[in-house]
Order: sequence, then C-alpha cells, then structure tokens
Amino acid sequence: SKTHIYHSLRPPSPLPPQSSPFSITDFIFSLLQTTVAPPASLIDATNRRRIPYSDLRLLVRNLSASLRQPPLSLSHGDCAFVISPNSSHLPVLYLSLLSIGVMVSPSNPVSSVNEVSRQIRLCKPAVAFAATAELARKLLEVGFSNPVVVIGSDEFESRMRGGSSGGGSEIEVFQSDTAAILYSSGTTGKIKGVKLTHRNLISTIAGSIVGRQARSSPAVYLCTVPLFHIYGFVFCLRVVAFGESIVLMTRFDLRLMVRSIEEFRVTHLAVAPPVAVALVDGSNEELVNGTKWNSLEAVLCGGAPLTVPVIDKLKKRFPNVSLSQAYGLTETTGGVSRVVGPYESTIVGSVGRLVPHCEAKIVDPNTGVGLAPMNPGELWVRGPFIMEGYVDDKEVRDTTVDSNGWLRTGDLCYFDNEGFLFVVDRLKELIKYKGYQVPPAELEHILHSHPDITEAAVIPYPDEEAGEVPMGFVVRRRGSTIDEAQVKDYVAKQVAPYKKLRRVRFVNSIPKNTTGKVLRKELIKLALSDPTSK
Ligand code: AMP
Repeated sequence: SKTHIYHSLRPPSPLPPQSSPFSITDFIFSLLQTTVAPPASLIDATNRRRIPYSDLRLLVRNLSASLRQPPLSLSHGDCAFVISPNSSHLPVLYLSLLSIGVMVSPSNPVSSVNEVSRQIRLCKPAVAFAATAELARKLLEVGFSNPVVVIGSDEFESRMRGGSSGGGSEIEVFQSDTAAILYSSGTTGKIKGVKLTHRNLISTIAGSIVGRQARSSPAVYLCTVPLFHIYGFVFCLRVVAFGESIVLMTRFDLRLMVRSIEEFRVTHLAVAPPVAVALVDGSNEELVNGTKWNSLEAVLCGGAPLTVPVIDKLKKRFPNVSLSQAYGLTETTGGVSRVVGPYESTIVGSVGRLVPHCEAKIVDPNTGVGLAPMNPGELWVRGPFIMEGYVDDKEVRDTTVDSNGWLRTGDLCYFDNEGFLFVVDRLKELIKYKGYQVPPAELEHILHSHPDITEAAVIPYPDEEAGEVPMGFVVRRRGSTIDEAQVKDYVAKQVAPYKKLRRVRFVNSIPKNTTGKVLRKELIKLALSDPTSK
C-alpha cells in the first residue's frame, strides 16, 4: 500500500478498561502498591527534606480532603494553577488535585506578568498554588481574585498533615476527564493550553511498565527538568508509580547536582540537552570526574535535540553509563519514542523506538505520501496519549490531529530498518531555547507593537549551549534610528528571560511567499550565510 505505517515493536502495556472510573492518581497508587522494593522517597536536594512513599497515600488523602472543604471547596472539573520551581511538595499536590478531578495547570515561575495573565485567561483557575509570596503577588498583579495558597506554608503543611477531616463522599473521576492543562504553541502561532486527560497520563505511565528490569535496590533519579513541563510532569508521576526515589532541584546548579549524586547515590540522571552539554564541557572537567559518579547507571535526555559530538563526548567521559534519549511533545503527553536497554543505547543519535501502543507515519510534506524506512518526512503519530485538544481552540486541534487520530508533530524524522527513530530537523515555527518553548509568533507580535518597527520575523539561530536562540529580523520605520540594544530591551521587558531576543538584524524587507507567509527557512539561510550577522 502507499501508506507505510510503523507499529510499536514493544509489547502492549496493560491499560485499565476505558470506561471504568479511574484517576491517574488511582493508577499510580495501584502500581506503587505492587512494588516490593525497599522504601523510597521524594527528596529536596537543597534542604534534604524527604517525603517517604510510605506516607504519600495519607498525605494525598489529607490534602485532597482539605481542598474539598470550605473555604476552598474545590470540586470535580475545577482548575488549579500551580506556579512553582521543583520541590517535593509538587508531586503530592499534583496527585491530590488529580485524585479529586481538579485539573492541574502548571506554569513556569519565571513567566512574565503578560504570560501568566494569558495562561490564566486560558485555564480559568478556581484556585492557585504559588511557591512564594512573591509569586502569589504576581497573580494579584494580573487581577487574579480567587484564593492563592502558598506551597509549603504553614497552611499548606497543615492541610497535608491534616487529620481533622473525614474526607466526604468519594469522587468519581473518569479517564476521559481532563487532568492537566500544559502550555505549548504547537506547530504555529502563540501559546495554547494543551488539554491532557487522565487516560492520556495513564497510557503514558503504563507504557513504561513493560521492559523494566528487576533491581535489588530501588533506582534513585535526579531530576533537573522542570515539573511544569510535560517531561518533568510525567517523569515525577512515573517514578512515584514505580516506587523509585526522586531528588529534586529548585533550579539547575552543577555543583549541587554533583553533591547530590554522591550523597543520595543517584542511579539515573534526567536532563535536557544543555545539562548534557555542561557535563562534557572542558571547564567542568574537575567536577564531572572521579568516584562521586560511581553510582550513576544512566543519563536520560529529552526535550530537544542532542548533537552527535556531545553524545560521543558523553560516552567517552562516562563509559559505564548508558545514554537514553527520548522524544516527545506536550501534545503527546511526553515521550512517543525512547531508548530502552543496552542494545538500543548503542544506536548513536537515535531517539529510540516507539513506545507501546504508538503508531507512526513518515509523511512526505509535499505529496502527503507515507514513506518507507530511511526516507525523511514529517512524523505523524497516533495512540492513547494524543491530547484531548487545545483550550477554546477546536479549529487548531482539527488542523493538528486529523479525523483518523493522527497528530502532525511538525518534526522532520525518519525510521531506520530496525524501527529506530531519528529526528532530522524541525518543520514547525517553534524555537527551543535550552529545551524551553519560544514561539516566534509571540516575539513577532511584540516587535510589531513597537512604533518604530514596520515588519519583523523571528527565527531559531543555532547555539552550542542553548541549542537555539531567538533571532529577530527587523524592518525599521523610515527615518527611525532604533538600534539593536533598544529592540532587544523592548522585548526583554515583556517576556520571561528564556524568551529574550539574543540576536537582531535590520533588513529592508522580510521575504514572503505569494500568500504572504514568511519564508523562515530563507531567513535561517540568510542568517547562517553571513558570518557578520548578530
Ligand atoms: P515540547 O512540547 O515543549 O516538549 O516540545 C516538543 C518538541 O521538542 C518536539 O516537537 C521536537 O521538535 C522537540 N524535541 C523533543 N524531544 C526531542 C529530541 N529528543 N530530539 C529532538 N527534538 C526533540
């Protein structure tokens, strides 16, 4: 047939019957119950606080019961906005909210006021949880008038330690209910709210059941990735489900990471490419060497591309550590392909094989024909982890996921003859700075609002450390003398630090096709061809 479909080579994972009321929290606790490994915990790297899993069920029950009571009175279908760096309290909060059918909408704590304001307009939260009083004030600034609870405050602790409440009647959460709203720009345009269901999360966690090796002592994960991004969000649920310890860092700090690896005997390190780059950086050699790394078995990397030179250096520096890349999107509830086991980790540059229940096509972007192995095209995927849709945007959902359930990833990929997936390039507009999404449309909108700018376009410019940095092409209004620093500054004032424009180039016009669409690939070529470009 003309359409070549790739099927997962992994055995299907056990999924609960779809119609049964079953929240992701129920699912996680049902798995946790079956793990026989010695006790594990959630650990904060900075202050060494531990929440043992033996306490977790009680803490989740207390917290969820107290959230249902006045004055918060949260109920099934409400949304909770969570703005916090990583901490051991977050998995407890997520599991509690999810257990009573309250949607979790996690946000990056460095988001600007405008960004928070847009997210809140999208997810319409009944309550917000903020890590600090300062973050709580940011919510007030955007006019959020519902209650704000400070995570880790006395109030929060007493809700979690609880004891007073009986809990009330059971809440039935259906797998088709929305569980989380995360933020992504998808293949084009501005930030949207991605709705993921309990079923999406269950199928993603279940996908890791198969192929897990029995261990004599539980694995210890060190998580440098943020829990508000799909990678960290799913990651923290997964380690709890499998009864493995997880060490959390509020922000990335190489020294603290090394100390924690040694102190907690970390076996698995979860990183995005910039941390992998830091690990092989010559100037960190002293820190990244020696016996303190003996416990380490694997480095897991995802969220953005890892280059082959970095992979080679990692293998050289850590010959006994396996490197596992994973690839996925917010819209696919995280990883759709993953490297599993020693053989797969020898396939250099691959992001692994399809997860259980995943089907894929490689589609020629010009003809729409499905392609055979070794031919690059756009990756389309299908499976139980495909998002429910975007908040208030059925139209964009319908152009992203077709009527047969195929999601267009916007990534140029190919499969080899053994089912290994390789990511070649990105077709969509997205820029990834250190694994964080920077939607060009958002920066272009800001540039267009400047009175001295008549036209602008933003593209990804390659960067060794960050992967890509946003670069702006700007057309000045006739007679204007606005300079590079002023343009950068104008944008920086309105966005989170990771979205800053790092390069600006003034041009006379922006290349477009006949329908007025910006020719981004041409701008990228132009940027790369001129070594003087800044
Ligand atoms: P996000 O929704 O923020 O996770 O972004 C998803 C996008 O990140 C994908 O469509 C890819 O463009 C990129 N991405 C994620 N993981 C990888 C990877 N392992 N290799 C290359 N690109 C990746």
